[in-house]
Amino acid sequence: MKSNKQYTDSFKKRVDHEAGKHRGDLAMKEPAVCETCGNIYVNRRWLRAGSDVVVSDPHTVICPACVAKRDNITSGYVHLEGHFVRDHWDEIKKLLDNEADRAADDNPLARIMAFEKERDDAFTVRTTTEHLAQRLGNSVKKAFDGDIRYDFSHENKLAHVWWLRN
Ligand SMILES: [Zn+2]
Repeated sequence: MKSNKQYTDSFKKRVDHEAGKHRGDLAMKEPAVCETCGNIYVNRRWLRAGSDVVVSDPHTVICPACVAKRDNITSGYVHLEGHFVRDHWDEIKKLLDNEADRAADDNPLARIMAFEKERDDAFTVRTTTEHLAQRLGNSVKKAFDGDIRYDFSHENKLAHVWWLRN
């Protein structure tokens, strides 16, 4: 009985470690296509949906970005604050969307998960990668000036970017 229970515990731990995946196989089979966004996995790399790559008879999977989105696992936060944000939110959002689109060419797993309105003059953008949060912060700073601060925690792999313009 005791050994049975131990087996169950370790099995549970392994499943949790794989973030809810019920397949024991961590190595992704190739070629594969994400059934949610159409990202393609081939030669151990993710390519954007619509890439010029022809894959025959791909496996159907859910890519890590779609898993993060589905399970609400955020890796980066961009906090935008100030009167300027309130008055120019549409412009800022458009810039962020465009930048995220360009980022996806480099890394198809980098994605904006959500735009969240905290107040009239404060929004939070959540991303699937730390790097994308940094990149979005850079682009806002470059386009609209303001004050920026980066806060990275390498321990829990989380990036916070704070941008303020009044
Ligand atoms: Zn996907």
